[in-house]
Amino acid sequence: MKHRCPICKAETDSEVHKDFPFCSERCRMQDLGCWASEKYVVSDPIFDEEEPVEGERKTILLDLDKPDDHES
Ligand SMILES: [Zn+2]
Repeated sequence: MKHRCPICKAETDSEVHKDFPFCSERCRMQDLGCWASEKYVVSDPIFDEEEPVEGERKTILLDLDKPDDHES
């Protein structure tokens, strides 16, 4: 059974390549690496945004404490 490597588009053969449908272990690892790095990129900005927000939230809570105390 013939196929094409999803990474480098080289022709692969299920009878010859043990890493089928990839032509080699390197391409197989590259596919896994692409998937892992994509996940990393998605989670990175979320983690980066949460840090300053948490610091701001403390300031906002302190600011809200004063007018709330004044109103009641
Ligand atoms: Zn390949």
